[in-house]
Amino acid sequence: MLTNEYLKRVYDGLAQRNANEPEFLQAVREVLESIQPVVEKHPEYEKAGLIERLVEPERIITFRVPWVDDQGKVQVNRGYRVQFNSAIGPYKGGLRFHPSVNQGILKFLGFEQTFKNSLTTLPMGGGKGGSDFDPHGKSDMEVMRFCQSFMTALYRYIGPDIDVPAGDMGVGGREIGYLYGQYRRLKGVWENGVLTGKGMSYGGSLIRPEATGYGAVYYLQEVLKHENDTIEGKRLAISGYGNVGWGIMKKAAELGAKVTYFAGPDGYIHDPDGVVGEKLDFILEMRAKDPMHCKPYADKYGVEFVPGEKCWGVKDVDVYMPAATQNDVRMESAEKIAASGVKYYIEVANMPTTNDALNYLRAQKHMVVAPSKAVNAGGVGVSGLEMSQNSERLVWTAEEVDAQLHKMMKNIHKVSAEAAEEYGLGYDLVAGANIAGFKKVAQAMYEQGVF
Ligand code: GLU
Repeated sequence: MLTNEYLKRVYDGLAQRNANEPEFLQAVREVLESIQPVVEKHPEYEKAGLIERLVEPERIITFRVPWVDDQGKVQVNRGYRVQFNSAIGPYKGGLRFHPSVNQGILKFLGFEQTFKNSLTTLPMGGGKGGSDFDPHGKSDMEVMRFCQSFMTALYRYIGPDIDVPAGDMGVGGREIGYLYGQYRRLKGVWENGVLTGKGMSYGGSLIRPEATGYGAVYYLQEVLKHENDTIEGKRLAISGYGNVGWGIMKKAAELGAKVTYFAGPDGYIHDPDGVVGEKLDFILEMRAKDPMHCKPYADKYGVEFVPGEKCWGVKDVDVYMPAATQNDVRMESAEKIAASGVKYYIEVANMPTTNDALNYLRAQKHMVVAPSKAVNAGGVGVSGLEMSQNSERLVWTAEEVDAQLHKMMKNIHKVSAEAAEEYGLGYDLVAGANIAGFKKVAQAMYEQGVF
């Protein structure tokens, strides 16, 4: 509930001006609800118009992306970069190539990114970009021509100290390679710190592809520790088996836990023995062949496949981790999750839960709920470490990067729990992450004057 008059006024004004951006309003509302006690402690923020500025992106760049398909026909997509907030560092955040992309989705992601990046403790502001281009079913050369055209429009607005894009849904190593090649060609400089998620041969960081999933499991370990519990033997139900989901499967298996349920676009798999060993390689193969179907896993290993359903509500697990996309868990699924008796609900994808569903789960006395902007921060965190390596022109070992990632996730959990405690909210990791992320950005904005 928004009770603070100032925050209510800001939100209502925003809702009026952005009525066609529901995901953005959803993300803002969740944060404003959490930071009420902080804003009440800092009456100077109102005079400084701090929240009005916080919810307005510093800049949005929109551009046309024309490209030639394999038949020689010209296609046109829409490209965006939302430069949300640079108070604590250059804009930083991924590019999403997916048919669902529009300005409202990218504003929600850029807004979330601002707080997430703050939580990593690294100097990174918030940004996000992308296009309604769908890479699925396109040839390599089509993807390359699209990426070259996208970067031709974007290159003048980014740079290692200005704005550093990376991957998100639909943008992986292949796309980052084509984007970087075109940037270098246009600018005639090396400047590889302009993008993260690069290949190892031109300045990428070890562990970056796995970082989001590994980080999520490290965070889960901290939650379990807090509850005097351990990860050994835990059974996880996740949605999504992309880059992030796969990282969770791998790290969970390494630490003696296992993913026993996973959902894809076509339904869900139940493998009581867990996705471990060579099954992890099969997931990669299956995804490369056809990212829309996980049923081949059931066919190969003779396990259960439930078509058209999600695994929310299954009882024989210990942890739920939605790791697919936004608003994957709505009220109907939240009710099933609460009724299942499972204790841990750990968000991984950006905003995977609708606000009513999230508040419902947070209100369950038997549950611990953790928010995506803390849990998935390891991805952008290792992007920050990639930037550090690029700046010092060195390459760190996998052990060094992993150790830093682990430390970062422990710290994010710690500062979130402490922030909630400081405001008398108990072990509320959702509010705690919002408060901890907000405090640093707010202070930086306040100290730098009005702009
Ligand atoms: N797209 C990822 C995220 O949502 C990573 C962004 C990055 O590495 O800049 O945080």
